[in-house]
Amino acid sequence: MARIFCPNCGQSETVDLRGRFLVTCDRCHQRFSAIFAGHRPPAEVAVSCPKCGRREALPIKGGSKVKIDCDGCGSQFEYRSDS
Ligand SMILES: [Zn+2]
Ligand SMILES: [Zn+2]
Repeated sequence: MARIFCPNCGQSETVDLRGRFLVTCDRCHQRFSAIFAGHRPPAEVAVSCPKCGRREALPIKGGSKVKIDCDGCGSQFEYRSDS
């Protein structure tokens, strides 16, 4: 989700889009172009600790490798998400 502001009246709107769009303001009908860079938060992945089995939902980008500190037992483990 991205938040856009009308340059004319300041009306804000939340949109779920990516790319470049011509937006028409709901309030003042001013037309303006907005660019959404695609800062969509990664989906949450259920990760479980190999040591104590504690499960946690973490926002992890696809195809990335992250180090996770377990809140349960304090051990650190690596998690690699596919695609
Ligand atoms: Zn406006
Ligand atoms: Zn653990």
